[in-house]
Amino acid sequence: MKRTGVFVCHCGINIAGTVDVKKVSEELSKHSGVVHAEDYIYACSDPGQNIIIDAIKEKKLDNVVIACCSPNLHETTFRNAAKTAGLNEFQCEIANIREQCSWVHKDMEKATDKAIKLTRSAVQRVRRNEPLEPISVPVTRRALVIGGGIAGIQSALDLANTGFEVILVEREPSIGGHMIQLSETFPTLDCSQCIMTPKMVEVSKHPKIKLMTYSEVQEISGYVGNFKVKILKKPTYVYADKCTLCDECTKVCPVAVPDEFNLGLTARRAIYIPFPQAIPATFTLDIKNCPGLLPIACGKCTDVCEPGAIDYDMKPEIVEEEVGAIIVATGYDLYEKELLTEYGYGKYPDVLDGLQFERLLSASGPTMGKVLRPSDHKEPKEVVFIQCAGSRDPELHCAYCSKICCMYTAKHAMLYKHHVPDGQAYIFYIDIRSGGKDYEEFVQRAVEDDGVLYLRGKVSKVFEDKGKIKVWGVDTLAGKDIEIDADMVVLATAMRPSKGADELARKLKIAMDKDGFLAEAHPKLKPLESVTSGMFLAGAAQAPKDIPEAVAQASGAAGKAISILSQERLYHAPTVAEVNVNLCTGCGMCVQVCPYDSLSLKDGKVEVNEVLCEGCGTCSATCLRAAIQVKNMTPLQVNEMIKAALGG
Ligand SMILES: Cc1cc2nc3c(=O)[nH]c(=O)nc-3n(C[C@H](O)[C@H](O)[C@H](O)COP(=O)(O)OP(=O)(O)OC[C@H]3O[C@@H](n4cnc5c(N)ncnc54)[C@H](O)[C@@H]3O)c2cc1C
Repeated sequence: MKRTGVFVCHCGINIAGTVDVKKVSEELSKHSGVVHAEDYIYACSDPGQNIIIDAIKEKKLDNVVIACCSPNLHETTFRNAAKTAGLNEFQCEIANIREQCSWVHKDMEKATDKAIKLTRSAVQRVRRNEPLEPISVPVTRRALVIGGGIAGIQSALDLANTGFEVILVEREPSIGGHMIQLSETFPTLDCSQCIMTPKMVEVSKHPKIKLMTYSEVQEISGYVGNFKVKILKKPTYVYADKCTLCDECTKVCPVAVPDEFNLGLTARRAIYIPFPQAIPATFTLDIKNCPGLLPIACGKCTDVCEPGAIDYDMKPEIVEEEVGAIIVATGYDLYEKELLTEYGYGKYPDVLDGLQFERLLSASGPTMGKVLRPSDHKEPKEVVFIQCAGSRDPELHCAYCSKICCMYTAKHAMLYKHHVPDGQAYIFYIDIRSGGKDYEEFVQRAVEDDGVLYLRGKVSKVFEDKGKIKVWGVDTLAGKDIEIDADMVVLATAMRPSKGADELARKLKIAMDKDGFLAEAHPKLKPLESVTSGMFLAGAAQAPKDIPEAVAQASGAAGKAISILSQERLYHAPTVAEVNVNLCTGCGMCVQVCPYDSLSLKDGKVEVNEVLCEGCGTCSATCLRAAIQVKNMTPLQVNEMIKAALGG
């Protein structure tokens, strides 16, 4: 019989507070085949690991069970310890008596009984474990970054500056994301474009970055270290290398549609450059709005384009790339107008969202930095800012806090006062959330230096009345109803995941949280990783974030990607599914249920892609003939574990 060692961890009082660890150790020492059992206060500590290593050597143990916390936390720690002592690392198993026992029970007697059963169960399993070797695969040492906002740009630059090739895919005609639309940025009030454009230029000139704008990821396959990506390059109908930016085409284009960059505050032509500092600096022909295509009814732009840069016959292109790691930085969008009608949003031209107000404040904006009402171009003298428009409103809108609105609203009110010193800024708020370096001081400046009036309470109604926008609300601190005749209302609308994030998440097989943001693998310990190995998250795609946070996360994600790309080969756990071809009938039921797409049919039998397989066992549970099973979690092992857990 194999010689098993059992080590029961107290985890301070995390386990020992609810489980009688000494009793667990005593009971396990009576279990057949267990030749060594002991408890220790912190098994994961250095002395704790040494106890395990020494016992393996001295007692000539064949395998060990550590009764402790979740294998997610310390399976690798203890397997490494077993390896140091000369065992195959897969001769070590964890009995999770913390998350699955001590943390969820109060009654010590019952919790102890359960801990004994869980540990016995693990002993029964480890006894039949095969020695296994990790699966090794070569790494494609290039990365893909999806989204060219500040987060994607930062990740791409960090990767490229470390020497790795990067493909940066942006779906719009230019990189820059929302940051390039901003005027000045809190808390330092430095000009957003001044700090963003050098980075955009660096991206476009970097020899290691392949920039693909007006492009979208269409298909993805493969696994960590070896992804295959198909990217759709949409036709711009303009050859960037021929276009001289003379602008003659826009002068003759008869079309006027709302300009996305200025959020509809101005119009653009069907052929356009998104903004003067766009990267790449070239025109795009917006096919949806161009009357010149199919059949050619206009063609004026081609007539005036001397270098012949416009080509109505340009076709979409599919570009295939291979990469080892992926960073998703697809950012955010603001809450849709049609969902916030209670504030007159989308109904009254002088009710704006925060990004529209940024464009009014911006020196490169539609009013050259003058704060003017869109309706009549007059300077607004009373401006009401409404925070939490769509956020923290579980009944009607989003339950979550959009986190950055308190700060940018303080900035908006402050900048408005800098532009219109004799004007009055009111801010309706629920609470002020100004956690961040120098953030609280920034809000105080708005109040004390710029005379911004904060009103604690919610707005009940916004409506037009005799050329004014009436705002009804309540000041809960003064206990008074408030009525303001405003000239302009600015809504701090909720931040939402960018449009299409759900579709992309499905393609990449990464999870989303309940609000549709991309979900991190662990909220505390893996905030940069997605649940899919080799795919990382950066910026506001994961949750509402300001620029410093987006940049920090982007650099972190790049670091994580580099930790993969810097290796020649990657190692994957060998506890994967294996097929008994003699029993397999090729019914394909397991192929259908595999959540990792790791199974396929070949010549009437199922084949396992071992690198994609995560050893979840769904296939094994589905197979009617027990033809597929997971190594070291075979039906026989499961059966014995259940018997042990039931006390048999
Ligand atoms: C009104 C307002 C004012 C603000 N002011 C400040 C401030 O003063 N200071 C501050 O620190 N922060 C401020 N912010 C926050 C700031 O805008 C964000 O922190 C920052 O833009 C987040 O960057 P990002 O790259 O994560 O996302 P984004 O800027 O949203 O960029 C995402 C990019 O990904 C692209 N994309 C999306 N989906 C795809 C896809 N499927 N394929 C390819 N590309 C895709 C988008 O086109 C976009 O270019 C403000 C926000 C608002 C709304």
